[in-house]
Amino acid sequence: MTAQLIDGKAVAAQVHERVRVAVAARVAAGHRAPALATVLVGADPASEVYVRNKRLTCEKVGIRSVPNHLEATTSEAQLLAIVDRLNDDDSIDGILVQLPLPKHINADKVIERIRPDKDVDGFHPYNFGRLAQKTPTLRPCTPWGCVELLKSTGVPLSGKRALVIGQSNIVGRPMALELLLLGCTVTVAHSRTRDLPEEVGRAEILVVGTGIPDMVKGDWVRESAIVIDVGINRLPSGKLCGDVEFEAACQRAAFITPVPGGVGPMTVAMLMDNTLNAAIARAGG
Ligand code: NDP
Repeated sequence: MTAQLIDGKAVAAQVHERVRVAVAARVAAGHRAPALATVLVGADPASEVYVRNKRLTCEKVGIRSVPNHLEATTSEAQLLAIVDRLNDDDSIDGILVQLPLPKHINADKVIERIRPDKDVDGFHPYNFGRLAQKTPTLRPCTPWGCVELLKSTGVPLSGKRALVIGQSNIVGRPMALELLLLGCTVTVAHSRTRDLPEEVGRAEILVVGTGIPDMVKGDWVRESAIVIDVGINRLPSGKLCGDVEFEAACQRAAFITPVPGGVGPMTVAMLMDNTLNAAIARAGG
């Protein structure tokens, strides 16, 4: 079998268009455009690229982007004060604090300071708890984007045996909750999991987010599986690769996401969707 590629760019473009049309309709109905405040602390090159990307996508879909670029020396108290100001600013619908933050700042404290109804990254314990209780509000963007990619295959997902490798708060854990919502039977693997190849071999849906290049070998993959590779790893050659051995996995999977061009574009697309939804909820409809 040669796997069919799941084109994240194309699915993301559909989400952009859906958001653009909805934003335009709201503006035509007399609402102001949704507004996303981005907060970047320091000058980490990867973070700068991510934030710029998010801002450019905002422009594309009609969301107002409000940048806050702070010195690397910004204290935790100063950052919390900025979050408070954005929380209280009625013209802002979503607040995105780009992670990672410098080491002297406690990221959990900052995330918990964001008003849950403006938490468009979906990382606040309130929004995470809503997802865990099967009443999701603002959902973590990367796993939610993976759900869109899974649905784009057209394969019925309910009842499927799913394996998530990785249990982080931004990828693995919320992904497992999303798969439960889809009706899958979910296993979560992590660094202490025994017999990982055997677990992978059982999975009809495989989602991998470990940050280890090519850690899932292609010949572990179950025939006809759907493979979602969340990993983005830069090799010494400068090339990007995922956490799954791509070429070999293509020989067994039915569907697979490429890296780049798979999950990455979806994370930004779902951020746009969350910002629109936050604006709608805050305006009362
Ligand atoms: P973390 O480092 O927070 O988590 C990695 C997870 O992988 C941990 O749960 C860890 O287990 C698990 N793990 C590590 N080694 C193994 C192993 N040998 N076998 C099984 N599991 C293992 O990473 P993130 O979740 O933040 O990110 C994961 C990847 O996803 C990265 O490549 C990142 O760049 C990418 N990413 C991509 C995004 C996108 O938009 N496409 C967005 C966010 C992340 P344990 O908990 O036991 O330590």
